[in-house]
Amino acid sequence: MVQYEGVLAFSEDEKVLTELLSKGRELSEKKMAKLSCIVVGKPIEDVANRLFEFGADVVLFVRSEGVNRFDAEVYCTLLFETIKERKPEIVLIGGTKRGKELASRLATRLQTGCMADCIALDIDEQTGVLVGTRLMYAGKATAKEICKTYPQIATVPPRVFEKKIVGPRKGDVVEVTIPEVHPRVKVKEIRRKEMGAANIEDANVVVCGGRGVRSKEDFKLLEDLAMTLKGQVGCSRPMAADLGWFTEWIGLSGHKIHPTLYIGCGVSGAIQHLAGITDARIVVAINSNPDAPIFSAADYGIVGDLYQVVPALIESLKKNA
Ligand SMILES: Cc1cc2nc3c(=O)[nH]c(=O)nc-3n(C[C@H](O)[C@H](O)[C@H](O)COP(=O)(O)OP(=O)(O)OC[C@H]3O[C@@H](n4cnc5c(N)ncnc54)[C@H](O)[C@@H]3O)c2cc1C
Repeated sequence: MVQYEGVLAFSEDEKVLTELLSKGRELSEKKMAKLSCIVVGKPIEDVANRLFEFGADVVLFVRSEGVNRFDAEVYCTLLFETIKERKPEIVLIGGTKRGKELASRLATRLQTGCMADCIALDIDEQTGVLVGTRLMYAGKATAKEICKTYPQIATVPPRVFEKKIVGPRKGDVVEVTIPEVHPRVKVKEIRRKEMGAANIEDANVVVCGGRGVRSKEDFKLLEDLAMTLKGQVGCSRPMAADLGWFTEWIGLSGHKIHPTLYIGCGVSGAIQHLAGITDARIVVAINSNPDAPIFSAADYGIVGDLYQVVPALIESLKKNA
């Protein structure tokens, strides 16, 4: 029987990787096993030392000729070959957009399961298997899942776990070389993201426009409010998916945001939208319909026409700045 042992973490985003390592440290101590992580590229001492501080015992620098940008297919091969060789029991992958694509490909290739978007992870004391907790029904319920096949793969969205420095410590650096992998996808052009999506997950203040905003040009009003509050503008799904004004949106099928302040302007508060703002500390709703569901989720509600309320808010904020 194949023996699987240890915890392996990967994210193409170093910040997310340190969050995974902090949780991975806890899990590996419970399993009394080693915690490793994968970094794609040449060994860099500073990077390895940082990752040891966050709990890694082993940093695997995995490389292959000609790999110089993220490609899910190529990275999947790099991780697949490394996992096949090292046989970790648990694989944690950062649930970024890229990480989610990678994890599902990897699970298929390894013929194992993948618990997606876990908000908690633990080891079952009796069976020793990884238990993942996931949100269900747009955040109304949680489900605990286990993966019956090995390795047990789980993806974890950014900022679910706090990154913790374990202390100055040393570990092993291992270089892994994989034979050249040829991507089947050729990137022809790279463009900057449009307004409404760039770094919205990291924004401290988010001003979100919904179908109550009558035109794309009217989003300028929301931009002015966001600028006054040093925040960013986002939108509900119809503004992007239906109207095509933007490329991304906030909500269950879009970005999950974590701002200190969220201001919804002309957003009704559908359950799928609210699933994206559950981590907002303060929710303000501006809506002309006093019965709009968003008011039940809001800390502060303003019943009124956003075309009057938003300019008045900007003026008042500027006056009191
Ligand atoms: C599988 C699935 C996934 C989905 N995922 C998402 C998601 O991730 N994110 C998301 O946002 N949606 C998502 N949706 C769509 C969601 O169900 C709603 O349709 C959508 O959120 C509604 O967007 P809205 O609030 O902008 O528009 P509406 O529901 O049309 O609301 C517009 C609001 O604006 C108010 N209003 C109108 N004029 C003014 C004015 N002048 N001043 C003030 N208020 C005004 C109205 O009273 C109304 O409440 C999903 C749906 C499905 C089925």
